[in-house]
Amino acid sequence: MEKKCLFCGIASGEVPAQRVYEDDEVLVFKDVNPQAPVHLLAIPKEHVSSSADVKDPALWSKLMGCAVETAHRLGLDDEGYRLVINCGTRAGQTVFHLHVHLMAGRSFHWPPG
Ligand code: AMP
Ligand code: ZN
Repeated sequence: MEKKCLFCGIASGEVPAQRVYEDDEVLVFKDVNPQAPVHLLAIPKEHVSSSADVKDPALWSKLMGCAVETAHRLGLDDEGYRLVINCGTRAGQTVFHLHVHLMAGRSFHWPPG
């Protein structure tokens, strides 16, 4: 049995979220604790714990393509945006279902903290 988690619950609709885009394989929704004026999360609907656990490289094309296309549709190409994946506790991952943060609407520092 595949492990179920918070974002599996959002993907299935059991846990409410502000959905921005979805298709059969991916979902984009608003982060509940936004760190920028635009802060969205793109996830595969299938449970994958982290970037280290991706088995099918085609998932990257689908997930990152979805994040970039969402940014494009929101008109963010010119002002810019940041895509972030935290892998593992030490990198700041708190929800162990792979997700891409899409953040925009302010300036971002480099290197990140
Ligand atoms: P990370 O720390 O990279 O694992 O990111 C997890 C993100 O999930 C954080 O930015 C949280 O604010 C966000 N988050 C946690 N619970 C929810 C929820 N129920 N709906 C939307 N976003 C959430
Ligand atoms: Zn999950």
